[in-house]
Amino acid sequence: MLESRHVEALRLLLGEKGILTAAPDLASYETGARYDRGQAAAVLRPGSTEEVSAVVAYCVRHGIPLIPQSGNTGLVSGSTPDMSGREVVLSLDRMTDGFALDIDNRSLRAGAGWRLSDVNRRLEEHGLFFPIDLGADPRLGGMLATNTGGSRFLKYGDVRRNTLGLTVVLADEAGTILHLASDLRKNNTGVDWKQIFIGTSGAFGIITECVLNLEPLPRQVATAYLVPRGDAEVMPLLRAMEERLGSYLSAFEGMSANAISAALNHVPSLRNPFERGEVPAYVILAEVSRSWAPREGEQSLDQVLEAVLAEIWESEAAPLADAFVGPAHEMWALRHALSEGVKHSGRLIAFDLSFRRGDIMGFCARMRAELPALFPTVRICDFGHVGDGGVHFNLVVPKDDIVAGDADFERRLRDFVFKVAVEDFNGSFSAEHAIGRKNQPYYDLYTARNIRDLAAGLKALLSPGALGAARFG
Ligand SMILES: Cc1cc2nc3c(=O)[nH]c(=O)nc-3n(C[C@H](O)[C@H](O)[C@H](O)COP(=O)(O)OP(=O)(O)OC[C@H]3O[C@@H](n4cnc5c(N)ncnc54)[C@H](O)[C@@H]3O)c2cc1C
Repeated sequence: MLESRHVEALRLLLGEKGILTAAPDLASYETGARYDRGQAAAVLRPGSTEEVSAVVAYCVRHGIPLIPQSGNTGLVSGSTPDMSGREVVLSLDRMTDGFALDIDNRSLRAGAGWRLSDVNRRLEEHGLFFPIDLGADPRLGGMLATNTGGSRFLKYGDVRRNTLGLTVVLADEAGTILHLASDLRKNNTGVDWKQIFIGTSGAFGIITECVLNLEPLPRQVATAYLVPRGDAEVMPLLRAMEERLGSYLSAFEGMSANAISAALNHVPSLRNPFERGEVPAYVILAEVSRSWAPREGEQSLDQVLEAVLAEIWESEAAPLADAFVGPAHEMWALRHALSEGVKHSGRLIAFDLSFRRGDIMGFCARMRAELPALFPTVRICDFGHVGDGGVHFNLVVPKDDIVAGDADFERRLRDFVFKVAVEDFNGSFSAEHAIGRKNQPYYDLYTARNIRDLAAGLKALLSPGALGAARFG
């Protein structure tokens, strides 16, 4: 609970709509998308950068810890308060003022509270979109703070690659506003400060506004499920597709049989697309796209994809066991349902890993070989962005499993998987979800002392107030 003098002072700054203190109003801000359930002292909902600045200055001066929250779809316990009841959630959900589209510049200046789906709905009539695609519907501020990757990273890159500028409020006693909201793609006039705030979980400042690069909306899309002959054929298949399709190739997503089966079992709207309902051991969802409408006499994109698959099928290396082209919305529906399916098939212990692309299948094979002996009740339901080296390495244990109920079980399992991923394969323990309470111990373990010291110095310089769940100190 926040002392009543603070509640009154903050209400004066934000008005009645800007502060929530009643338990039922706090509930949705206290519960995260996956693991977390905390207790907020209050929720602040400023409506402008100036209001963010005023409340942040007040909170810093009075030692009130703040947790920035946007869409609350983050997966590492970064956007929700802890159980202490001391932390105040600073929600950006009212920051939807401003939507300045610059068509010539192919850029958008918008408040950090815009939902991705709303942004893209409004851009559609202009034939443009913000090209980050994922199975959740986050807000821009959270996407920037986590540097969201998503399924089309292969073609468009991550949020960082698509950000031109930001406005940020620092957690200092003045609530300093930094105007880094440049509309320029080329600007080398000093330190590129915006990069400090992208992918750093809100620890260095609160993003209130951004300028984003937009891309032409794809007007033609074709998708196929590809079944590689074995693990060793996945990379040759990716290379063959890249060689023949160039920048048409917009996604190359891997799905294990266990992840597909979990989605088919738990998401009733899905149809099993495989012959006789038999799910192959590993399936790739490949997508090709281009930005112009079909022209008369031009080969359709389905035909292009079919021709390329036929060439690969007949090639000497022959990495394909099966392949079929199908409707993009159905194929993506299965891919986007994997998270949901896995979540409902038991107790989920999820890892957001990345590797050099050529190491992904080797890592998964090693896990399949070693995990059963060490953790016999664990089922591996991996899927991910194979084209960019990302793996959502999900482990599921039966909800009533007694061994897995042991408090130490999850820690031992996490320690083992991260050790192999980071130490043996030189991978990342957080590919695209940034840092939160869930993976903080691994930041501490796997980040070199001098790098942690640098981050701590920067934090003290920029935002000395208690801000965010991640500790870079
Ligand atoms: C079903 C599902 C599928 C997903 N798939 C993907 C995927 O493919 N790729 C991927 O990258 N992620 C994925 N995610 C994770 C998540 O959607 C992303 O991390 C997303 O970008 C988080 O945005 P958000 O608005 O929900 O942020 P939140 O969850 O609200 O916050 C995330 C972090 O950012 C900080 N933060 C929030 N707003 C601000 C701000 N304005 N200023 C400073 N810091 C701030 C928070 O404190 C927290 O640390 C998925 C999540 C779900 C539930």
